[in-house]
Amino acid sequence: MSIDKRTRRDFLKACARGAGVVAVGGVAAGLTLRADADKVWQLDPDVCTVCKDSTNSAGWGRCATECVLKNSAVKAVNNFDSCGYCFICPAYFDITSRQLDDGTFEGLICPQDAINRRLVGEADEYDPNNNFFEYTIDESKCTGCGLCVQHCKPPGGNGSLRLQVRHNLCEDCNQCTIATACPPTAFYRSRVTDRPAGYKRPESPARKRSAP
Ligand code: SF4
Ligand code: SF4
Ligand code: SF4
Repeated sequence: MSIDKRTRRDFLKACARGAGVVAVGGVAAGLTLRADADKVWQLDPDVCTVCKDSTNSAGWGRCATECVLKNSAVKAVNNFDSCGYCFICPAYFDITSRQLDDGTFEGLICPQDAINRRLVGEADEYDPNNNFFEYTIDESKCTGCGLCVQHCKPPGGNGSLRLQVRHNLCEDCNQCTIATACPPTAFYRSRVTDRPAGYKRPESPARKRSAP
């Protein structure tokens, strides 16, 4: 069965609007808590290589192992604007594990079971590939290991899962230990009101109208 493209596009737009509120709301909540600070540590996901820490046998990135906090202040965040809401998300399922009768896979990528998957919209019982699934991160479980981010990279995924500093958790250390250890220097200081790098600000209708 083919997908009605207009319906799919409208659906994704509606989801992106709703999810964007959640994602930005999470950042805003953190910003409110630290509103008296001039600058905060940020992570540019376009520079981050999701480095693997070779001393960690589980293959965790340095954002998980270098933070002064036991459970890192860096978390995976889904940028819903670019998520495909896929039936088989390669960042959620371990597609090298045994495939089940319903087309999904036995194994999961996240070692903490921190990714929640839920069907959104109406179910197509005849073709599961037509169904939309939302993937959200349970930040209380996420260690910022980056394994899901690695598996979300193109061509397997859309690259919508990224690492971000959560400012409601970050201690705002004078010298961030992750910044010191980060090979490509993806960590930087910026004003608390600045939008984190790597996230495009959606064009407002007013800005579009005034464009030449
Ligand atoms: S960063 Fe690691 S712990 Fe967090 S959701 Fe991704 S795989 Fe799970
Ligand atoms: S500033 Fe401190 S608490 Fe925040 S991410 Fe860096 S090491 Fe972790
Ligand atoms: S240490 Fe740097 S490169 Fe490694 S995962 Fe963190 S931000 Fe990315």
